[in-house]
Amino acid sequence: MAKTHILGFPRIGAQRELKKSLENYWNHKINQEELLECGRQIRQSNWKIQHDSGLDFVTVGDFSYYDHVLDTSALLGVIPSKYKHDTTTAINLNTIFSMARGKSPDQEDVTALAMTKWFNTNYHYMVPEFEQNQQFKLSSSKLFDEIQEAKSLGYNVKPVIIGPLTYLWLGRSDNFDKLSLLPQLIETYNEILAKLFQLDITHVQIDEPILTLELSQKWQEAFGLAYKQLKTNGIKLILTTYFGDLGDNLKLIKSLPVAGLHIDICSNSKQLVTVANEWSCNKILSVGIINGRNIWKNDLNKSFEILKQLKTKFDENLWVASSTSLLHSPVDLTNEKSLNPEIKRWLSFAIQKIEEISILGRGVNYGINLIKDELEQNAQDIESKSTSTLIHDSKVQNRISTIDAATDKRKNSFEQRIKSQDEKLNLPLFPTTTIGSFPQTSAIRKIRQEFKHGLLTKDAYIKSIQKEIKSTISHQEKLGIDVLVHGEAERNDMVEYFGELLNGFAFTSNGWVQSYGSRCVKPPIIYGDVKRPKAMTVKWTLYAQSLTNKQVKGMLTGPITILSWSFVRDDQAIKDTALQIALALRDEVCDLENAGINIIQIDEPAFREALPLKKNDWQEYLDWAVYAFRIASSGVSDSTQIHTHMCYSSFNDVIQAIADLDADVITIETSRGNLELLKAFETFNYPNQIGPGVYDIHSPRIPSTEEIINQVNKMLAYIPKEKLWINPDCGLKTRGWPEVEQALHNMQLATNQLREQHGI
Ligand code: GLN
Ligand code: ZN
Repeated sequence: MAKTHILGFPRIGAQRELKKSLENYWNHKINQEELLECGRQIRQSNWKIQHDSGLDFVTVGDFSYYDHVLDTSALLGVIPSKYKHDTTTAINLNTIFSMARGKSPDQEDVTALAMTKWFNTNYHYMVPEFEQNQQFKLSSSKLFDEIQEAKSLGYNVKPVIIGPLTYLWLGRSDNFDKLSLLPQLIETYNEILAKLFQLDITHVQIDEPILTLELSQKWQEAFGLAYKQLKTNGIKLILTTYFGDLGDNLKLIKSLPVAGLHIDICSNSKQLVTVANEWSCNKILSVGIINGRNIWKNDLNKSFEILKQLKTKFDENLWVASSTSLLHSPVDLTNEKSLNPEIKRWLSFAIQKIEEISILGRGVNYGINLIKDELEQNAQDIESKSTSTLIHDSKVQNRISTIDAATDKRKNSFEQRIKSQDEKLNLPLFPTTTIGSFPQTSAIRKIRQEFKHGLLTKDAYIKSIQKEIKSTISHQEKLGIDVLVHGEAERNDMVEYFGELLNGFAFTSNGWVQSYGSRCVKPPIIYGDVKRPKAMTVKWTLYAQSLTNKQVKGMLTGPITILSWSFVRDDQAIKDTALQIALALRDEVCDLENAGINIIQIDEPAFREALPLKKNDWQEYLDWAVYAFRIASSGVSDSTQIHTHMCYSSFNDVIQAIADLDADVITIETSRGNLELLKAFETFNYPNQIGPGVYDIHSPRIPSTEEIINQVNKMLAYIPKEKLWINPDCGLKTRGWPEVEQALHNMQLATNQLREQHGI
């Protein structure tokens, strides 16, 4: 019999119960026992779903109160000394929270561990911090307790752990080679395996997603050594890869003493043929055929054919699986009461995905007749999607055919453009500006909420938002900022706002996905051709401009960011969807220009994070991403100034692509990266203007004038003064007004002093 399983299930609960409990616990509204009870209920309900759907295993070890990588650090005793953990005791939940958040109910303030993106997903993990002479020591019984809990409920348990190489790879070490820690780490893994053996575990899912990256020789060798030293006691290790294809690592993987391999054929379907040919039929092959990262129904008829073939070779060694953990998809589609039913029938969330796996498993084991009805229903759903009038818009297709070689180019070079811009804008040396948003106060959120729920008429809503804009403009004028913004009070979220105004987007009411800890996001669903029925930002921007003689910068979200923070349709190449969004934005850019707005910013905070995992694939991505941005931004005349903004500090390896965007001005985050970014300018002559953020908006700390001057002086070592803008490093929406005023006041004072120093 072929077997069925998933790699992991969302842990936030169908109604974000865990989020609510966590926040209540942190705010001292519930005690730890109540939090633990919430966790227990979610876990047990997740197991029950897997079991009741007929999966052969329930996956245990995927549940976490904060982050599964952090839990692995606790398991292995990787607790930096600043958290003052007593190594003779087990790690308690408060230490975990202290590592995650920098504070916990009964501890003083300490800085949190760093957080970064989990491969190319929008999930963020807590980065393990390895110290010199790092020792590993089993320090948490959470995994073993949960296994016992599931076993006592009668379930067939398959634990999941992060593999030793991926764990090391995810961590940070200052000034020493992480791989030097491997021998001792392997000993600790052997202790884990021994405990699992005592618990009668037969199969372990050992996650090594770094096997889908381009590994250096050294890491490849480390894999070989480590896996040969693992003492499994007969437990079958399923070496689990996801987020990409194995590429050249397949040879290495074949040499490892593991009982099985999991591959993700949703991120790269081509690898299936190679792996199926090369992998021995005496070993388990777990085929990740149900996409764990999107929300589209699987084409079950197609999948069934593929699996039927594989069954002839692998027989009982065939496992049917989700491609990745279902962590990245929302929990339950049946909770969606207001989705258009036509769209809803194309979708599948985590619970529905388990059902899909189960159907395929039954078909493979007992024959097509047993799943005939399900296959037929599925065929109709898939057919309805491909023929739906909601998806295809011939006007969009026609528009695309009008794109020519000039569409993605400004009319003249930057050198010529900047002359017309200088003439028109008349900005001083070191122009000051902000990134777009101003504090999103509770009053602002209330206005939007009331309007959304029909408690505020449209007129009243517009008046209320205008009042906010007016006050934001007057704040900026008083501060003496040169290029003003309207403040984005009307935007709940920089992607959702545009999605709601564009055709081709759908929104769920409960489609939450964990981003980190208790934070969840609800990505829009791009299901069809994207079109802009009417202008989206012109009225607000014009209103702001009507209040001042200074320039007001129009504010848009760019195509790559809209794509990256949404669930994207899978029936056309992602770059085609990018192009459609770009065209819609292009029209908005032109409308803003025609309305008299002279500066327009197109934000691309996701530009770098959307880079493919393999360096080999970078150029292809950069080509279409740059193209999409240029399509969006190139419709304007020379004298209209295009800005972009990106929020990361390490862009050195993609600086050529950033220059290729040909934005007249880029504002970029640097302050957290300690001016790391500026190193790129030593060797690269960035052609256009740039505003490397002069202070960190992620912290409530107010930068002093002196500090800002210092920061700018460091920048001036690399960037000619005529090219330098002065601005914070990101939007101000998460900050409060008093700190924002103080910080911007100091920023403007610093600028005035700098201008004097430079003879103005
Ligand atoms: N314009 C956006 C803002 O200021 C940019 C946000 C971002 O970079 N993530 O909020
Ligand atoms: Zn930013």
